[in-house]
Amino acid sequence: MKNESLSQCIIIQRPPLKFKNNYCFDKFHDPNSCNVSVIWCIYCKNKKRIIDMGESRPCGINHCQSSIHAEEKAIKTFLNHKGKNKNYEIYVWRWSKGGEIKTKVCCNRCTKLVQKFNLQNKIFTFNNYERCSAIINNPPLSLAWQIKLN
Ligand SMILES: [Zn+2]
Repeated sequence: MKNESLSQCIIIQRPPLKFKNNYCFDKFHDPNSCNVSVIWCIYCKNKKRIIDMGESRPCGINHCQSSIHAEEKAIKTFLNHKGKNKNYEIYVWRWSKGGEIKTKVCCNRCTKLVQKFNLQNKIFTFNNYERCSAIINNPPLSLAWQIKLN
């Protein structure tokens, strides 16, 4: 008898966006690391397509300060599409172990980066399965700084 793995039993919640293509998000969900990993994607609202997508996980406490946040990676990718990114939007979120989409707001460091490039109206997360801004008034400290202060 075959052992059915956990990942085969759970349903990975799709981001509440309109898609022209039928994307498979399952490969981005890892039940072993989803508590710490953040998903980012660049979405074109006109073409209803994902332009690019990735995952960011912390690379351990010793390397924490050099770890690139999902937002940073997304912003860099967004800026690489200069001239074509008028209709692009950035989305960041987490998945729970069970596959539900969880809110991920920008930390203070990423918030500064977003403001530097004036992307406040371009970066979103999801709350209760609805789109909302990933920029909040009192952004949490990034993990690296939290460890430093502790
Ligand atoms: Zn950050």
